[in-house]
Amino acid sequence: MTNYQNIIKQIHGHLSLQKNYGEVAEYIPELAQVNAEKFGVYLAMVDGQSYCVGDWQDSFSMQSIVKVLLLSLAYTKLGGRLWQRVGVEPSGTPFNLLGILENDNGIPRNPFSNAGAIVVCDVLMDLYEDPRQALLQLVRELSGDNFIQFNKQVAESEKTEGYRNVALINLMKSLGNIYNDVDEVLDLYFDCCSIAINCEQLAKTFLFLANHGQTIDGHTRLLNPSQAKRINAIMLTCGFYDEAGDFAYKVGLPGKSGVGGGIVAVLPEKYSIAVWSPRLNDKGNSYRGLKFLEQFTTDTQLSIF
Ligand code: GLN
Repeated sequence: MTNYQNIIKQIHGHLSLQKNYGEVAEYIPELAQVNAEKFGVYLAMVDGQSYCVGDWQDSFSMQSIVKVLLLSLAYTKLGGRLWQRVGVEPSGTPFNLLGILENDNGIPRNPFSNAGAIVVCDVLMDLYEDPRQALLQLVRELSGDNFIQFNKQVAESEKTEGYRNVALINLMKSLGNIYNDVDEVLDLYFDCCSIAINCEQLAKTFLFLANHGQTIDGHTRLLNPSQAKRINAIMLTCGFYDEAGDFAYKVGLPGKSGVGGGIVAVLPEKYSIAVWSPRLNDKGNSYRGLKFLEQFTTDTQLSIF
């Protein structure tokens, strides 16, 4: 039998001794305050077992990882009609690029770019009476932790400096793809990105995507199996922006990163794994997080390929 605890402990120990590269996300001032050397891992299996190492109990900022949950909330209600507002093609560009949006008539290439997630927030404002509450309730239900909260300081900090997102939403508004007030939609987007979560909560939250769209206790079904398969496909092709191909090649799992330094990845029918290490490479993905997952799927010989 595979000794998962040993494997994750060894990889964590090995990488902790190696030089750590990259920078923490400084364009959100509040995120620049985190300890750059934090490093935690939590592995949650579909059969209920779990394994952890390092700083897995410390909370960090979810950031773009939340885009998967926002998408799931919209997709479960709208189904395929959602794709009239946002595509499912990898963009091969950084997460906050303005360039192609103008040529694409304000329809973002995919829901995991900033523009795409902002459109999804706009959609959620029309679908849910209180989209913040819907998201919080979902994360709490999936993670089994009722204390998960938005981090107001992080959200405020991003609001003061989020010039690119302001540009993106205004461009989309001018092209007719934002229906609500731009400030309200952006506020919702920043609040959602600010959720504070630790590796255990994050791995447990994403287990539904390893379990055909429902929690492993069977209490909550967010997506049907076909929808869960599709969200995983979008994570595989678009979850790491212009590094998605590299992640598929080296790690071989559907996953999603955030500039808080978190990465979550799933192997359908088997596990969900969360890694947190705040130093980011030049694509905005956690340097150590990627290294860890590459080694993990190599050592366990478990990936979708
Ligand atoms: N809130 C961040 C932003 O909009 C999320 C980016 C990310 O995690 N890649 O820039």
